Amino acid sequence: MKRIITFTLLICFLLSGCTKQNSKLTKTVLAMDTVMTLTIYGGTEQHMDEAGQLIKELDDLLSATKDSSETNLINTSHGASISVSDKMMHLIRRSVELGDSTNGALDITLTPVIRAWGFLGGDHRVPDDSELQTLLEKVDYSKIQTGDGTVALPEGMEISFGAVAKGYAGDLLMELFSSQGIESAIVTLGGNVQALGLKPDGSKWNVAVQDPFSDGTLGMLQVDDKAVVTSGGYERYFEQDGETYWHIIDPATGKPAGSGLVSVTIVCDSGVTADGLSTALFVMGLEDAIEYWKTNGGFDAVLVTDDGSVYVTKGIAGDFEPENGQMQIIE
Ligand code: AMP
Ligand code: MG
Repeated sequence: MKRIITFTLLICFLLSGCTKQNSKLTKTVLAMDTVMTLTIYGGTEQHMDEAGQLIKELDDLLSATKDSSETNLINTSHGASISVSDKMMHLIRRSVELGDSTNGALDITLTPVIRAWGFLGGDHRVPDDSELQTLLEKVDYSKIQTGDGTVALPEGMEISFGAVAKGYAGDLLMELFSSQGIESAIVTLGGNVQALGLKPDGSKWNVAVQDPFSDGTLGMLQVDDKAVVTSGGYERYFEQDGETYWHIIDPATGKPAGSGLVSVTIVCDSGVTADGLSTALFVMGLEDAIEYWKTNGGFDAVLVTDDGSVYVTKGIAGDFEPENGQMQIIE
C-alpha cells in the first residue's frame, strides 16, 4: 500500500512538473491601433503582466498621436536637439539604416503625407498633387541628426513609426521572454507574428499567410525563432470614385505605392528588420525587391503580385505550403 502511494505521488509530481513546463498562458492586449495576442509556455502570470507593461510602455513612447509620447516631443522640438530614451534611439538608428539600404523606400519622416491621406487619424481623403509636393519638401529621413543619446529633427519635419513599431515590439518581447527563462512563445501583433524557439513539443510553429485577395489563407509557413511580418494593401485602405487607396505610401511620389505587389511577407531573425523591409519591398516592387534580397540577404520573403502570382525565396521554399500549390521559387 505504501509503495502504491509513493508511486502515485511520484507520478503526480512528474505530471505537475510536465504541466508547468508546458503550461500555456495567453493574453490579449489592445495597443498600437491593433489587437495583440501573446502566448507563452512554461511562464507565469507575472511574466505575462511584464509583457503587457512593456507593450504599453512602447505604445506610450512611440505613438505619433499621443501628446505625451517621445515621438511627439521630437516632432514639436522645432529643430532643437533633445535627449531621448535608449529604445527611441535604437529604433530611429535602425529605421535610418533601413532607409539607407532601401534607397529611401522606407522613410519614417513621411508622417505629414501619411496624415494628409487620413492614415494617421482624421478622415480619409485624396490630397491633390500640389499639396503632396509641398508636404514632400518636409520628408527626408537622412536629415534626422542623431548624437550621443540625442536627436535633432529639422523644423516642420515629423517622424512616425507605423512601419516598424510592431516589429520592434516583437523583438523586445522575445528579449523579455528569454530573460524570464521562457523558451517557447509566440506573439501576434496585428499582421506581425514573432516566435521564440520551437513549439513545446519541439516542432516548428505554423504561421498562416493571408491571401491578399480574400479572407482566406495564401499558404502556411513553418518557422522557428523568427519574425514573420506581412505588409498588404488590403490591411488598411479606402475607396473613392472607384479607386482604392492603401496605407503604404511611396516616398518618391507621396501616393499609395503602385508597384504591382499586393502583399509582402518577410521572414527574418529580427522583427524590426522584417517590419521595415515588408513596407519597403512593397514600395519597391517585385524586381527591385528580388534584387534587394540577392544583394543584402539575411531574410526570406513571400511576394504576391497583383495578378495573383506567388514568389518565394529559396531559403523558405521548403517551409511554405501554398494553398493552391502554386509558387515560383526565387533562387
Ligand atoms: P506596414 O503595415 O508595416 O507596412 O506599415 C505601414 C504604415 O507605415 C502605414 O500605415 C504608415 O503609417 C506608415 N508608412 C506607409 N508608407 C511608409 C513608408 N514608405 N515608409 C515609412 N512608413 C510608411
Ligand atoms: Mg512594416
